[in-house]
Amino acid sequence: MPFFSQARTFEENWSEIRNHVTDVLDDGKFSHGAKVGELEDRLAAWTGARHVVAVNSGTDALVLLLRAAGLRPGDEVIVPAYSFIATASAVVLAGGVPVFADIEEGGHGADPRSVDAAVTGRTKMIMPVHLFDRMADLRALQDVARRHGLTVVEDSAEAIGMRMDGTHAGLLGAGGVLSFFPAKTLGGIGDGGAVLTGDAAIAEKVRMLRHHGRGGRTLGDFPAISNATMLPGRNSKMDDVQAAVLLAKLAALDAAIARRAELAGRYDARLRRVPGVRSVPGARPPLPGSNRVVYVYLLQVDDRDALAAHLSARGIGTEIYYPVPLHLQPCFARLGHRPGDFPRAEAACASAIALPLHPDLPEAHADRVCDEIEGFYAGRAR
Ligand SMILES: *Cc1c(COP(=O)(O)O)cnc(C)c1O
Repeated sequence: MPFFSQARTFEENWSEIRNHVTDVLDDGKFSHGAKVGELEDRLAAWTGARHVVAVNSGTDALVLLLRAAGLRPGDEVIVPAYSFIATASAVVLAGGVPVFADIEEGGHGADPRSVDAAVTGRTKMIMPVHLFDRMADLRALQDVARRHGLTVVEDSAEAIGMRMDGTHAGLLGAGGVLSFFPAKTLGGIGDGGAVLTGDAAIAEKVRMLRHHGRGGRTLGDFPAISNATMLPGRNSKMDDVQAAVLLAKLAALDAAIARRAELAGRYDARLRRVPGVRSVPGARPPLPGSNRVVYVYLLQVDDRDALAAHLSARGIGTEIYYPVPLHLQPCFARLGHRPGDFPRAEAACASAIALPLHPDLPEAHADRVCDEIEGFYAGRAR
């Protein structure tokens, strides 16, 4: 039983996928063509974003967003110490310096008090991350940002479908991102990402940065100063074949999210009573005014490594989100942190395990995962 698969999803949506891909093949524009623009429009409608700029990965979306939102070399950006590595490396790649904060007690989002304590004279931005199945406490984090005059950008790479007071994740501050890495809630057939923003200037700058400093929505659609390069850009464009597949999958996204919720409820009901399972996602309600969208079904458990080995020996794929807290990653060693600096982030890394959860997963497979977890802890208790 693989941790993730989308073979059945492709089968079920095959005619839609084929139609969109055929459009691209017939049109012959494989980069910066019409499908990318079509995807941007559909995503804008789905999320309510005024501007969506599709790029080649969630990581590049973060780098371009940070630069477009005004990050200057040496500026500090406060990020949680518990996240995917790209959260902090994007800050470095954009020329900034990541400064870590701990996460909330009993949660996975940045702790507003820890963020407040991390502010210095060089702090320019706060970048909260929405992890797994819910949004971080954006209201409290925005208060901190307002008090210190900081810009908020969101690492909403995992957060498609998550909303707070009706506003989609990524649109509460200056901007946010989406990742279309295959395993994500809206996953493609390779890498992809997008910047979401309500700010026309940020969107325009991201369009320039993604296409050699030239901008435009499609090839031949350059801004007024045709072919003049306004700033050193890069090539972060999304391929049109990727956009074609994502358009087909976007049409099935509501059903996919509903299926994820169903499976998560099934896991919750069985696993909340298992000794050794410290907490199930469903035991903690999302913040008032916000919803739950289950991208990753993450448990905190006792004897995590032994449980992972037990499941692996029985053919069940699991993942550790995240094995090492960001402040202890070798690539950030020069920031000078040690174990103990962010205890809640470290504890989360030590006890987290993610179970298979994706629209392809049959109920019987979820039940088998629960059987094996129950069996593992029953064996330990003896
Ligand atoms: C997936 C992810 C990213 C980066 O996305 P890629 O598309 O893989 O580059 C960034 N931040 C978080 C929290 C993610 O989960």
